[in-house]
Amino acid sequence: MKGFTTKAIHGSLQKKDPHGSLRVPVYDSVAFEFEQAADMQQAFEGRRLAHSYTRISNPTVAEFEDRVRLLAEAAGVIAVSSGMAAIANVVLALAEAGSHVVTSKFLFGNTYSLFEQTLKPWGLAVSYVDMTQLAELKAALNEKTRAVFLETITNPQLQVADIRAVAQVARAHGVPVIVDGTMTTPWLFKSKDFGVAVEVISSTKCMSGGATSVGGLILDNGTFDWKQNPKVRPWVEKCGPRALLVFLRREIYRNLGACLAPHNAYLQIAGLETMALRMQKSCENARQIARWLSQSPKVSRVHYPGLESSPYYAIARSQFSGGFGSLLNFHLTSRKACFALMDQCQIVRRATNIHDNKTLILHPASTIFCEYSLAEKSHMEVTDDLLRLSVGIEDVEDIIEDLAQAMENL
Ligand SMILES: *Cc1c(COP(=O)(O)O)cnc(C)c1O
Repeated sequence: MKGFTTKAIHGSLQKKDPHGSLRVPVYDSVAFEFEQAADMQQAFEGRRLAHSYTRISNPTVAEFEDRVRLLAEAAGVIAVSSGMAAIANVVLALAEAGSHVVTSKFLFGNTYSLFEQTLKPWGLAVSYVDMTQLAELKAALNEKTRAVFLETITNPQLQVADIRAVAQVARAHGVPVIVDGTMTTPWLFKSKDFGVAVEVISSTKCMSGGATSVGGLILDNGTFDWKQNPKVRPWVEKCGPRALLVFLRREIYRNLGACLAPHNAYLQIAGLETMALRMQKSCENARQIARWLSQSPKVSRVHYPGLESSPYYAIARSQFSGGFGSLLNFHLTSRKACFALMDQCQIVRRATNIHDNKTLILHPASTIFCEYSLAEKSHMEVTDDLLRLSVGIEDVEDIIEDLAQAMENL
């Protein structure tokens, strides 16, 4: 078994490029030709693997999917146009009007909006629970529940649930667990080993190699018996254990049209090749900055699962390998103090994104969560004195120096 970065760089070494190109070519073509009419018929009937139209599949995108599949040891992968498209595709595949999903009360802002504002009016019932309280999860499951959805590290609260335990509860109920592994990626967390059925990832973040392009991924770990889901069941009868991905490729993903552009797949393959090196550096930087911040008299509290004082330290250490992520949060005294610190930053940039090569700072309550009421924000623990720092791969002493000078006059 090859190492993570060797696999990220070489993929599965399929057929050599006709010109010997060492980088994967960008097949910026909408359509692909067939030698014979019968070949075309077979491809459309799904009896022959071939690319016909880029909204459905494309060789450059397929290479990206294959490399992620190797890294995650997943059964199969579909790349999509964004992390949000990945979540929407999976939920729309597994649930129908009148059915139900259990998710965490801590969610990425747009994911919460997808459930609350987009899918609820279509008839989906959604329960929000604290995923670290298994009794709450158990109580929320019912006969209409089609999935349990949670993030590996919640953004921005940085809560880490015991994912194996969550998966056991869901499995006992015949329901798949979907994790959003954007914060961890397969480098930190191998979701397959924790009983997770499906992982979605925003490849916009770490995989794009430093904020080059928007993209998303759906990974089927091959650990769930899809006969248990009423919508996927007919596909199991037709196509066997790969039913979910076939159902997506031949219906949901095809019909929603959120395909990844071939050029973005090319950029994300390049990003994937250096992902382990970058994550090692950003996780280590984050840990040092979290320690430094926790000693600052200007900072009242720091959230980072890699701090030994974090309530999630033990579970994060046992689930994640190689680090604790590159996102951390800290509290000052007020929104005014947060804005003042942000405005003084020179190297640290005021921008929204995570896993960028650059260190980015933002005030969640006035940005990502600005459309929510005070009550909703307080329920999600997004307070007015909270700052979010996405730590990059710069030299750590420069980030610390910048934060120190920005805090001087607080
Ligand atoms: C950014 C993000 C998403 C959405 O990804 P896009 O590629 O921006 O659509 C989903 N989940 C998490 C945890 C994220 O950080």
